[in-house]
Amino acid sequence: MPPERFDHFMARANATYYAQHIFGQDFTTAPEISQVFGELLGCWAKVVWQMLGAPADVIFAEAGPGRGVLMADALRAWATPNVHFIEASPKLRAEQAKRVPHAAWHASLSSIPAGPLILIGNEFLDALPVRQFVRRASGWVERYVENGAYVEIPADYQLPDDPLGSVREVNEAAISFCRELSARDGIGLFIDYGPAESAAGESVQAIRNGIYADPLSYPGEADITAHVDFARIKRTVHAQGPVKQNQFLSALGLYQRSDFLAQKHPEKALDLRLSVQRLTAPEAMGSLFKVLAVCPDHMPPLPGFA
Ligand code: SAH
Repeated sequence: MPPERFDHFMARANATYYAQHIFGQDFTTAPEISQVFGELLGCWAKVVWQMLGAPADVIFAEAGPGRGVLMADALRAWATPNVHFIEASPKLRAEQAKRVPHAAWHASLSSIPAGPLILIGNEFLDALPVRQFVRRASGWVERYVENGAYVEIPADYQLPDDPLGSVREVNEAAISFCRELSARDGIGLFIDYGPAESAAGESVQAIRNGIYADPLSYPGEADITAHVDFARIKRTVHAQGPVKQNQFLSALGLYQRSDFLAQKHPEKALDLRLSVQRLTAPEAMGSLFKVLAVCPDHMPPLPGFA
């Protein structure tokens, strides 16, 4: 087999991984931590819909819905009929259908019908493949994979003049997803791991059976992700943010909603308090996770971005 460009390797490995795993045991995402996460995003989407003039034909979409928990929680806050999922894995589609049976499924954004669109993606962009470049004395080279190891091939790609040995990751798939969304005047809320500013550095990681693994060693058995370069997305399409997850969720009423539930269900009070802690503590998800809203430039500040 000839060397395979790293992003192609990552795309193939993840497609196999998601086709076979209903994660959960490999990593825990925000909607799996607290029902309040999805409820708040449902409220967010409903308010944004009202800001659009409450069009009756609005589409509420989610990219990479995982087990469908987020959407099921969101629909309790905003009971809108037109739900569309972008999901590649048949196994996860079946899982999502248990919680949101009336959804329509798509392999990509392009087949979602025209019309007003509000889309949510939690830990979706980080699963999309990145290209990796390394700065050598000869210039930038690109990483390919051959027999489970990296090989470097000279690259003809515009990148900053970083010190020797630096790694740059370029998430072309995430950029083109956001471009396509923006071109159809869709509004997209993306929550993911990533720095506020673009920077050199290697962020690709793999998790297999709940433990960090070498990204090249277990294609299809590990979940491979990379940090999302929000600043680069923002240089490409019009967007609001990024803001930190804790700032965003507290602006939407995370504490009030959790307190309300704790009063109604005292037996769940401790769990609720712990989950709020996980979602907001800077050393947990609070500040590593950022929230970015892709939206047309005429939109006033969206909830959580004021
Ligand atoms: N949003 C969920 C799951 C995150 S895992 C949660 O927060 O729990 C990433 C999700 O994106 C999975 O559902 C996976 O199948 C999906 N996914 C990954 N790459 C994809 C691609 N290229 N096209 C469509 N879906 C993809």
